[in-house]
Amino acid sequence: MSSENHQVRLAERPVGLPGPEVWQHTTEAVPEPGEGRFVVRISHISLDPAMRGWMNAGRSYVPPVEIGEVMRALAAGEVVASAHQDFAVGDVVSGTFGVQDYAESDGRGVQKITPTADVPIETYLAVLGMTGMTAYFGLFDVGALREGETVVVSGAAGAVGSVVGQLAKLKGCRVVGIAGGPEKCAWITDELGFDAAIDYRAEDVKKALRAAAPDGVDVYFDNVGGEILDIALTRIRRGARVVICGSISNYNATEVPPGPKNYMSLLVNRARMEGFVVFDFVDRYAEAGRAMAGWLAEGRLHSREDVVDGSVDDFGDVLLRLFRGENTGKLVLRLAR
Ligand code: NDP
Repeated sequence: MSSENHQVRLAERPVGLPGPEVWQHTTEAVPEPGEGRFVVRISHISLDPAMRGWMNAGRSYVPPVEIGEVMRALAAGEVVASAHQDFAVGDVVSGTFGVQDYAESDGRGVQKITPTADVPIETYLAVLGMTGMTAYFGLFDVGALREGETVVVSGAAGAVGSVVGQLAKLKGCRVVGIAGGPEKCAWITDELGFDAAIDYRAEDVKKALRAAAPDGVDVYFDNVGGEILDIALTRIRRGARVVICGSISNYNATEVPPGPKNYMSLLVNRARMEGFVVFDFVDRYAEAGRAMAGWLAEGRLHSREDVVDGSVDDFGDVLLRLFRGENTGKLVLRLAR
């Protein structure tokens, strides 16, 4: 076991896209576990758009990362030292361990996972992790999806969006994905079975959506906000559900973004728009996990992880890939040692 723990801390709050100046790289000794605690050697770090929000000051659904604090991150790894009765050396676990090589934990919020050759550790940060839970509860609970409906999802080739579309196909729905670029559009239609894809970088989204969902949209699962949300609102059907999962087009905005312009469509169509935070469903993760693992094993659900090999020092650069649209599927940093 190495004696050094490399860490990435928040040095300052970013304005706009977070550049290298917002990160401080520190090196400490690997912690020794105190009584009732254990130490994890982190092997995989999840990159999430929400991290950008956690870096801002101010009230949100979780407290902000403080200046000088190790950057918050979901991650997975192996227990290498333990003074905790429920966690033994060799256990593989996932939890909010932060951007560092080693984390000490008291076990709260930590799950034991069982990676195999078919279901590697990174899948537990993707379909079988927070990403998959977000798709499952966002679509089935908040979206109240019914068989045979028409579903449109933005960020469709990303971690959450690609799962949302597949789950909707499993329920016999017509699924239209909105994503950036021809490769992503080809992937979601040719490999994941979406019925149609709209390349928002190259196409007139309004026109393309009218063609792809001529009878309107029952569930719009929004990962991006902004103009695409505005357009989707013009195409909803009576009784539609607009699921506000995220708004990545605004996460680095330096001015307050304009509100949705077309919200009166909710009134006209007796529709509902509802936001959610996946953590509120934590009591039901096991239910969703079983369902997702079953579909994965049956080959009816695919998990794609976009794994970047590097060290914690690469974290800042890898995070930017999310905002540049450079990932397909779930972006994960795998720590090479
Ligand atoms: P993704 O894997 O989807 O990565 C982000 C993708 O967003 C990029 O690949 C890019 O794809 C797209 N994107 C980036 N900038 C823009 C832009 N300006 N306009 C449109 N699309 C853009 O990330 P996740 O799947 O992890 O997250 C998706 C969304 O879900 C995020 O908004 C996130 O905050 C939210 N989320 C919400 C949760 C909740 O509890 N409510 C939990 C987890 C995630 P492209 O090339 O197609 O542009």
